[in-house]
Formats: sequence, structure tokens, C-alpha cells
Amino acid sequence: MKIDIQTSSKSYSVYIGNDCLHSLTTHLESTRYTKLLIITDETVGEMHLGELITAIPQSYKTETYSYIVPSGENAKQFSIYEASLSFALEKGLDRKSCIIAFGGGAVGDLAGFVSATYMRGIPFIQVPTTILAHDSAVGGKTGINHPLGKNMIGSFHQPEAVIYYTEFLKTLPEKEIRSGFAEAVKHALIADASLLEFIMSNVTDLRSIKDEHLNYILQRGIEIKANIVSQDERETGVRAFLNFGHTLGHVIESSAGYGKVSHGEAVMTGMVYALYLSKEMINLEFNITEFELFVKNLGYSLEIPERFEFDNAFASMTRDKKSYSNQPRFVLLEKIGTPIVKELDKERLEKVFSAFLSSTK
Ligand code: NAD
Ligand code: ZN
Repeated sequence: MKIDIQTSSKSYSVYIGNDCLHSLTTHLESTRYTKLLIITDETVGEMHLGELITAIPQSYKTETYSYIVPSGENAKQFSIYEASLSFALEKGLDRKSCIIAFGGGAVGDLAGFVSATYMRGIPFIQVPTTILAHDSAVGGKTGINHPLGKNMIGSFHQPEAVIYYTEFLKTLPEKEIRSGFAEAVKHALIADASLLEFIMSNVTDLRSIKDEHLNYILQRGIEIKANIVSQDERETGVRAFLNFGHTLGHVIESSAGYGKVSHGEAVMTGMVYALYLSKEMINLEFNITEFELFVKNLGYSLEIPERFEFDNAFASMTRDKKSYSNQPRFVLLEKIGTPIVKELDKERLEKVFSAFLSSTK
């Protein structure tokens, strides 16, 4: 399966499925890069680097280098970014070389940012290995963290191709499946009521989703994200819809302490809250109780961390880099598949938050 993505700065293809690793081989054969640098993390490197290398054409074998970074968010540090650049310089990568980002969203963000900035920008290919990366590998956002804030340093840089070989997903721990799957549910909620219905009737256990179901859900998720990104590459308009569930989600992630609650778990809780807000503020007609039961059954706790405090949460939601005034901006749903952005005042947010808390207990 191939999805073509058009943005104002570049067109590229996403290849997805259990049989698409050869698309990497074909791409590398048809575009003659001078050198290849695979950036991967310790976990993915150990499990899958051997298989990835089998897809690199023989003609590149002496010009292919691998650089292993720490797993998870630790990859997105300045020191690792600098070390990756040093490695690329030492190995003599030039402007016609290509970086292969091989891993989850963290490696994708780091390797994408390395390629965006190395010699003012060189090509890169995304080979995502997590469910979450169906989201992060498409759209061209790259970056690293600053001690004062996540994803604060970065740039837009679109890949040459995305090779989403879903066999790599089979080694994902359940926590990571759950984290990534929340973004797939988000894509359905903001853009496609029939996809949501498909998910709710076919996915009952995250450990045993059928390959064809998962591939379909990820493919639709990518199409939805690609469609939004192609209308708004640099996030001045509709791209904000992708932030559904994230306004509260980010606060949950940080108040729990990064890494304690996964991104997707926090976003799922944020999405349920945004559904409550949508019902209260713009009369969304949707059976939220049924949806809550569905996601709880998949293992989403919908819990608010103990250290969470509404006043502080309100302050940080207002500071969010997506907010322009002194009121937080929320993505709400008029109906499933029809998002809008609204600024909401503290009083109403707090009132709905109390209702949400008592319902999820
Ligand atoms: P991740 O890259 O940290 O991966 C999660 C964990 O799973 C890591 O420990 C990793 O080593 C392991 N892992 C990866 N693939 C595996 C596999 N196939 N089998 C077993 N283990 C595997 O996390 P993620 O959830 O993929 O991505 C989160 C990151 O993505 C965050 O840094 C977030 O900021 C970023 N993100 C970026 C965008 C974007 O548009 N650029 C969008 C959403 C999220
Ligand atoms: Zn997200």
C-alpha cells in the first residue's frame, strides 16, 4: 500500500504494510545517495537493525554507517544531537548523503532534526517502528527537547519517503501499543466517524489486533494526518485539529512526571475531557459513556495524576505554545469528524472538569 503526500515544500510516498521493506531498497537504488547514516536507538537497533540492513542495496554496503542513541526521550537531548552531528562529520557525510531514522517518534524527531540542520539540510528517510510513529513520521516536524520544555527546538523538514514496515511493530510492548493507538483513535475522532466505528467494533484487545485491521487503521490515520498537513504544512490553521486531546494531555504528562504516563494514555484522557467539553459547549451528540467503556476496556486508565491541580493546569494550558491569548485553546468536536478550535474560560473548563472527574471514577 502506498500513500502519496503533497505538501507545499515536497511530495513523497509512505509505503505501509507487512511487505514493504523492499520499497526502501528500490528507493535507495533509484536515488543514488553518496552515503547512508542509520540513526536508531539501543532497543530497536538490537532487535531489528540486522533486518533493516538486509534491505540496503549491496552497492551501499561500504558507505553505510549506523549510530545508536539511547532509547526513548533520552535520544532528544542536545548532547545526543551534537554527538550525532559529530558522527556524521567524522564519517564524511555530504549534502547528497541520506539519513535513515529507524525507530519510534523520538528517533524520528532527533534524526529528522539532525538531517534538517546538517550542512543546512540533507535528505532523510523515516523507517518508523512504533504505532505512534504513524503520526510522527508524517508531517515533517522534527526536533529535540530543551531542559525548559519538550520539543522546544526544531524545524520543519519533510522526509524523502516513509517506509512503514508493520512487521517491526510486533515486538512493541503493550504500553507502547496503547500509547500509539490513542493517536489512531484521535485521527478517527477528528476526521472519520466510520473509522471510529470500525475501530470500536473490531478492536477489543490491543495485544491481538488482526494485522489487516491494524494496517487499515494506520493507513487511514496516515491519510487523515497527510490530508491535514497538506492543507497546512506550518501549522497556521487546520493543523491545530491534530491537537485534539493534547491541551489537557500535555499537562497530565508533565504533572505525572514525563515517562510515568505515556503520551498516548495522557492524550486519551485529554480526548475524553474534550468530548465532555464538546457536549457541554457545542452540543456534540455522541455516546461518551460507551466510548469511555471501550477505551477503559483497552486498558486506558483515564486517571488524573495525584499531583494534578486544576489552577496550575489552567495556567499551563494557557501558556501552551498553541495558545495566543490568556485563555487556553481547545479543539472540540461539533460532531465526530468535524473539529473546531475554541478558547474557553476557566470557570466553564473547571465545571466540566469536575463532571468529567466524577464520571471516570
Ligand atoms: P519512542 O520513540 O520513545 O519509542 C518508545 C519506546 O519503544 C522506546 O523505548 C523505543 O526504544 C521502543 N521501541 C520502538 N520501536 C520498537 C519496536 N518495534 N519494538 C520494541 N520496542 C520498540 O516513542 P514514540 O511513542 O514512538 O514517539 C514519541 C515521541 O514522538 C515523542 O518524543 C514525541 O514528542 C514525538 N512526536 C513527534 C511528532 C511529530 O510530528 N514529529 C508527533 C507526535 C509525537
Ligand atoms: Zn500526540
